[in-house]
Amino acid sequence: MSNYIENLPDVRGVYKFSEPLKKYTWLGVGGEAEVLYEPQDEADLQYFMQHKPQNMPVFILGGGSNLLVRDGGIAGVVIKLKNANFAQWRVVEDKFICGAGLVNFNLKKILPANCLGGLEFLCSIPGTIGGAFRSNAGCFGSELSQVLGCARVMDGCGKIFNVGAADFHFAYRHSEFPEDWIILEACFKTVNKSETEISAQIMQNDEYRRTHQPQGIKTAGSTFKNPPQQAAWKLIKAAGGDNMVVGGAHMSAQHCNFLQNNGTATAEDIEKLGNQIIEAVKKQSGIELKWEIKRVGQNINNDK
Ligand SMILES: Cc1cc2nc3c(=O)[nH]c(=O)nc-3n(C[C@H](O)[C@H](O)[C@H](O)COP(=O)(O)OP(=O)(O)OC[C@H]3O[C@@H](n4cnc5c(N)ncnc54)[C@H](O)[C@@H]3O)c2cc1C
Repeated sequence: MSNYIENLPDVRGVYKFSEPLKKYTWLGVGGEAEVLYEPQDEADLQYFMQHKPQNMPVFILGGGSNLLVRDGGIAGVVIKLKNANFAQWRVVEDKFICGAGLVNFNLKKILPANCLGGLEFLCSIPGTIGGAFRSNAGCFGSELSQVLGCARVMDGCGKIFNVGAADFHFAYRHSEFPEDWIILEACFKTVNKSETEISAQIMQNDEYRRTHQPQGIKTAGSTFKNPPQQAAWKLIKAAGGDNMVVGGAHMSAQHCNFLQNNGTATAEDIEKLGNQIIEAVKKQSGIELKWEIKRVGQNINNDK
């Protein structure tokens, strides 16, 4: 560990030290954050970024639904935009503007009540608005890049600026922006629709997930991206990956691209299983699967 802790700036938000991250991730695994910081508001976060110890690594945690945090935890500071100040929203003409800490599921009430069409898909994706940027989150034929107008962002020095959607270089489950950028707020384009129409679409999407995807398990959703013109789950099944087990990690019986922690898995089990599946699929089909889950932190032996 380091001397970051004694040099942390005096903030209005909350610091938590040696905070176990398994309780913040859907997979339910992972070591500790050296420091977890929950800023009070944007000004508090800006002060922190301007005064944090030099070279202190910074990681932004959203809802933890696309993350595998390794067992050795995350050095430096993990920032979580948990305070309600980061989940404010407003409607300006046909634009929906909201804080990056807003939980996507909360859109299920906001969208129909305000006749905001076009974002229905986003309501069914676990996590937060800020977390949807890194992977250009999407489902049901839509993705973030199609509905995003622009975003307010803070860089690693605490500077705040606007970024247009094109500057995120979005592609399928991919974007390109500096690791130290913190998404603060997103501005979405919307389509005027009736409350009934929006609610019906949201219910239809939820029903599809209930009937086609595992519910109530420790998972991070799709483990691997679909290769061009291929379905990852079919490749996994064909290579026998659906029956592979490492410690407490296995693939869901209902959807074999959903990696599942049976409750006893370590992050190492999960990563090993994923890598074994990549190998098996490569051997069987010649195709190399790419992780969709973002793996962060250190192994227990401190290897990256
Ligand atoms: C059951 C289940 C179903 C899923 N279905 C889908 C699906 O249909 N489509 C899909 O695309 N994904 C799906 N996912 C994956 C996941 O929900 C999405 O990737 C989601 O957008 C991640 O958001 P998060 O807030 O949880 O981000 P996290 O998992 O916490 O973080 C993901 C990345 O975003 C970064 N990040 C988070 N907040 C910010 C911020 N404010 N500023 C900058 N960077 C930030 C993190 O540093 C990290 O790199 C599913 C996951 C589960 C568990």
